[in-house]
Amino acid sequence: MAGYLITNARILDGSGKAPFAGAVRVEANRITEVTPGAAPPPARGAIVIDAGGATLMPGLVESHAHLGFADMTSQELTRLPPEEHMLVTVRNAKLMLDCGYTSAFSAASPKARLDVVLKREIEAGRVPGPRLLANGPEITVTGGLGDTNMLHLPHHETPTFCWVADGAEQIRRVCRLLAREGVDLLKLNLSGDAGTSSYPSDQTPMSEAEVAAAMEVARAAQLRVAAHCRSAESVMVALRHGIEVIYHANWADERALDALEAARDRIFVGPALGITYSLSQAAGQWGVTAEGSAGFERELAVSVEVLGKMRKRGIRVLPGGDYGFPFTPHGTYARDLWIFVKILGFSAMDTLVAATRLGGELMGMPGELGVIKPGALADLLLVDGDPLADITILQDRHALRVIMKDGALHKAPEKGRP
Ligand SMILES: [Zn+2]
Repeated sequence: MAGYLITNARILDGSGKAPFAGAVRVEANRITEVTPGAAPPPARGAIVIDAGGATLMPGLVESHAHLGFADMTSQELTRLPPEEHMLVTVRNAKLMLDCGYTSAFSAASPKARLDVVLKREIEAGRVPGPRLLANGPEITVTGGLGDTNMLHLPHHETPTFCWVADGAEQIRRVCRLLAREGVDLLKLNLSGDAGTSSYPSDQTPMSEAEVAAAMEVARAAQLRVAAHCRSAESVMVALRHGIEVIYHANWADERALDALEAARDRIFVGPALGITYSLSQAAGQWGVTAEGSAGFERELAVSVEVLGKMRKRGIRVLPGGDYGFPFTPHGTYARDLWIFVKILGFSAMDTLVAATRLGGELMGMPGELGVIKPGALADLLLVDGDPLADITILQDRHALRVIMKDGALHKAPEKGRP
């Protein structure tokens, strides 16, 4: 196979190094040559794509994907029949790839097999979508996040997109069921959450024994584990039990920050600020009261502060998260990059490194995914303009001239365009 030679590109290679002019060769699904300078190597039968000075960068990684969420409220989602639900999930996967996200680390799917089946179809090349690590429904305890009785139904009749389990035995059972169905990941809801649960976000309804039971199954089944951990205590429990991906962590205190720093080579933090940001700006939309918005504003302010500390401590903080609600619709994933720059004060370079190279590490393929170098997987974006100068460019699908995943063009350059 002759592959592709992308010439005349401004290469942003994901390492954090300043962009440089050059050419990139792709053979089969790998990058085989990176040639700096204006003069490209001979084509040797490759299809030549003249980038015309556009930015060539690694494909983006969504660190907290919910492909099975359907831009609906949790209540509506609970009532979505499986047939419609699978199709929505398949459409979301294509949309995510259309947005330049070539990898997705799933932070739960609302039915046990949505991610698993989607992943199988994507890997077989039957439907377009990002590289996917599949998850099952969030595992929560009675009254925890996802088990809120908003409809005021009698006991035990609350519909939920989570799996509710109490005590080590029940937790082991749901984890084993998900392992049996073929997930790569588990998601545990350790802490509460603002406005959606009988436990506020600084409380920790899941017990240590329940977390330990889930981790026992995860180790036996070789699953990786991510957790919803807003409270300081939940961060401590997660770290003690070897949970690798910690979402939110906004109430982390100095003790939790010390523990995160001590574990920084083996853990990732995903603040997933999309919802918090949107709801802090709700101004009466989506049924959010002024009081509710003020609460989210406080949570956003505390997140900005705590994430600044995490950055200084060298903890890997990744953009992405919780797109798939009415206030964070699918297709707007790259707004999270803007949140990192505009709200959290990350540089555009640090944000892009987090969304590419660190994303590759999160996906379990360090040095192989999320970087442009010989031997790396050929997941590439050709972007009109300079995302370092204007991070919002990545929210414009028209600016993505080429999207390549695994050496195959998902979006080919338009003919006749330089
Ligand atoms: Zn989530």
